[in-house]
Amino acid sequence: MMPVVALVGRPNVGKSTLFNRLTRTRDALVADFPGLTRDRKYGQARFGELEYIVVDTGGIDGSEEGIELEMASQSLAAIDEADVVLFMVDARAGMTSADEAIASHLRRCQKKTLLVANKTDGIDADSAVGEFYQLGLGDIHQIAAAHGRGVLGLLETALAPQLELLAGETRDDADEADEEHEFDDATLEDAMAVLDELEQEEAAPFEDAPIKLAIVGRPNVGKSTLTNRILGEERVVVYDMPGTTRDSVYIPMQRDEQDYILIDTAGVRRRGKVHEAVEKFSVIKTLKAIEDANVVLLVLDAREGISDQDLSLLGFVLNAGRSIVLAVNKWDGLSQDVRDDIKRELDRRLGFIDFARLHFISALHGSGVGNLFESVKEAYASATKRVNTSMLTRIMQMAQDDHQPPLVRGRRVKLKYAHAGGYNPPRIIVHGNQVKDLPDSYKRYLINYFRRSLQIVGTPIRVEFQEGD
Ligand code: GDP
Ligand code: GDP
Repeated sequence: MMPVVALVGRPNVGKSTLFNRLTRTRDALVADFPGLTRDRKYGQARFGELEYIVVDTGGIDGSEEGIELEMASQSLAAIDEADVVLFMVDARAGMTSADEAIASHLRRCQKKTLLVANKTDGIDADSAVGEFYQLGLGDIHQIAAAHGRGVLGLLETALAPQLELLAGETRDDADEADEEHEFDDATLEDAMAVLDELEQEEAAPFEDAPIKLAIVGRPNVGKSTLTNRILGEERVVVYDMPGTTRDSVYIPMQRDEQDYILIDTAGVRRRGKVHEAVEKFSVIKTLKAIEDANVVLLVLDAREGISDQDLSLLGFVLNAGRSIVLAVNKWDGLSQDVRDDIKRELDRRLGFIDFARLHFISALHGSGVGNLFESVKEAYASATKRVNTSMLTRIMQMAQDDHQPPLVRGRRVKLKYAHAGGYNPPRIIVHGNQVKDLPDSYKRYLINYFRRSLQIVGTPIRVEFQEGD
């Protein structure tokens, strides 16, 4: 479940302002992929426990010829993929013909739409927004995106069904959460023993589960060719699963006795079955596939080099905490000189993700494709590795012995113990005194120390710091 919220409205009503307020990442994914003529921005956002995707659809200025057609065909294709549309108008500027044109399209779309009057700060909002009732879209949600006013209430309404679902799940978990306080009064040793026991009790839930593997990348990098190559190999046992046109196709398969669910964003399998036009690249489909995967296989094109979009997709994968394997495709037929150049560029631009395995493959000829699965399994094993409190604490202490934390206001930061806080991606919680004051350089040192000691490959690690016991 990864709801998509689309921001729609004419230019200057405050869409970017709201987008920036909602998204948790600084750098949004800007899509100027071929085939999508308007720029759209995609961002990850979170409301409490609920993660969702925000799309800024870009402005429609109302001066386009045949605006309805225009909107229906492309810019507002995002509406089709969204769970809820926030239609923004400017309370200060009043209603315009562009607002009316957009409203009439939205009324016909039959998509859950909330009418949002922005810039209600410092004006008599109730009387200013009155005229917008004519748009026939029901209640008007008054906000001031620039100041955050009204935004939480708006989200509560927009995401109500998803929040309700999530609340149901959280209630089931409540009992488990209570257990965490049992060792409050115990000594450190006791606390660690209790934690270790709790960890033992939980059976490793990941061992028999299929690995959800998403194959993603820009248009034309070779995703379909790769998917076909994988599915065409004899050792692969493929089952069929029905799907809808809007979403990725989920293909259960087995390889070397490991079960996988291939998340096919290119729509290969469906295309093979039904006579359907080649599907358009869809950013939302890609982002949803990433969120839903355990491991993401990001396909790059050796002949195109690394583009900003590759880096945006990579950023999205890491932000989502997913494991990753990189495949540089179209490695066939390149001279040694060209290959050396490409490798130098990859080193330079992908240095920050040196924990991920990089493969050079040819989907067309099949070379290197089989080896991908070793890295996929390794990344998944890393992401779900069970480590107990005593081991994590020992590693943390070794790191501390090798390299003392710095003094903060004359007192040395003291790390006490560490325990696992979750998997997929691995989360490690470090307890100690003044840990919030640790400089970023020391935090990075610790993360790398955990990574090396635990041999964690292909997955981001999250280390969190908690004051005291
Ligand atoms: P977009 O074109 O729809 O993305 O609009 P922007 O987010 O770029 O905002 C257009 C202008 O409106 C900018 O100058 C913003 O600072 C301003 N603005 C956005 N939200 C608010 C608000 O809540 N109150 C006021 N007073 N100005 C706002
Ligand atoms: P998608 O849009 O990512 O699914 O890309 P496709 O699989 O449709 O491939 C785009 C183009 O690249 C097609 O013309 C493919 O034949 C070509 N292509 C894909 N993989 C390779 C490869 O390994 N080597 C070469 N030389 N061409 C490839």
